[in-house]
Amino acid sequence: MAEQKRDYYEVLGVDKNADEAAIKKAYRVLAKKYHPDMNPGDAEAEKKFKEASEAYAVLSDPEKRRQYDQFGHAAFDGGAGGPGGFDFTGADFGDIFGDIFGDLFGGGRSRSARNNGPMKGANLHTSVRLAFEEAVFGCKKEIELTVKETCKTCNGSGAKPGTSPETCSKCGGKGQVVFTQQSFFGTVRNVQTCPDCQGSGKIIKEKCTDCRGTGYIPMKKRYAVDIPAGIENGQAVNLPGLGEPGVNGGPRGDVRVEAIVGRHPIFQRQDVNIFSTVPVSFAVATLGGEIFIDTVDGKVVYDVKPGTQTDTKVRLKGKGVPSWRNKDIRGDHYVTLVVQVPDKLSHEAKELLRQFDAASGDSLNAVQNATGTQEDGDAKDGKEGKKKKFWK
Ligand SMILES: [Zn+2]
Ligand SMILES: [Zn+2]
Repeated sequence: MAEQKRDYYEVLGVDKNADEAAIKKAYRVLAKKYHPDMNPGDAEAEKKFKEASEAYAVLSDPEKRRQYDQFGHAAFDGGAGGPGGFDFTGADFGDIFGDIFGDLFGGGRSRSARNNGPMKGANLHTSVRLAFEEAVFGCKKEIELTVKETCKTCNGSGAKPGTSPETCSKCGGKGQVVFTQQSFFGTVRNVQTCPDCQGSGKIIKEKCTDCRGTGYIPMKKRYAVDIPAGIENGQAVNLPGLGEPGVNGGPRGDVRVEAIVGRHPIFQRQDVNIFSTVPVSFAVATLGGEIFIDTVDGKVVYDVKPGTQTDTKVRLKGKGVPSWRNKDIRGDHYVTLVVQVPDKLSHEAKELLRQFDAASGDSLNAVQNATGTQEDGDAKDGKEGKKKKFWK
């Protein structure tokens, strides 16, 4: 009989009731700690790694875990009516090792899948600040970027003129190498970017002095960018093919220009519509009359109807923002009319207003007509005052 096995839960350091996530997490920590790649030649670590992997293979599989909970290790060694041994093919090691190898070699799986075929260059990102109206109507903006240009001295090879890059001996020019891992549960193959040539498949012995072997020279470039009418804050204009150079004959990346739209002192924008509030005098609101309203097209004259109440909403059709999606669509401008109640009146104006109030015969809930004062009202009503009674 083999040596006494430790309890699987104990091996992983988890509770008997631990859920799948806790088991996976515990194993991930141990696997990383004891992985043979992290501990070359360390037999004790290898033993621990195998032990943890076996525990994980069982406890991560609901059926095997049930058998283990019922029969213990006997469930898998042919005794006690167990199925007699097991393989690890069902266990989910894949993404765990993906993580571990990612950590070990500093790259994710996307990187390890890379080869030295043509690849599009990276996108460059920049931004432009736009005034509110510039975003509404569109404009031209100049941007300046530092872009890699092919080195003319070496024609982009990176090798000193008269020499040429050699094929990388480590990867044979493929740009990637395969790590084969022998583990007790099988062979793990991992494809990694070649560490000697960084995936290019070529080694430069004598570097071009102008570009220091990179094949590129950083250059300041200026571009005029057409900002479309209706662009919104945070949206980007794409300039295809002006980004970083491609790799191995791939096309250049793009330049993405993000719009940062400034606020406006009186206009707010929502999608294609504009909103603002406009003060209207008490007299104009009452009697009606023409007022100026500011729009992005300039001032427009609006005819206020007699008897307009405060917070009246007005729609100025087609005075909003052109849609960047569809040039034929333009939004509206919604105006909220706010009636101003005068708070500073001359003696004469007050007198006229009292006359107005008397003549209109419509003092609503006023206790006294406008010729009286609040003090008079309280005095007539006696000790408590009318207000208190009302609010009780
Ligand atoms: Zn060069
Ligand atoms: Zn290589």
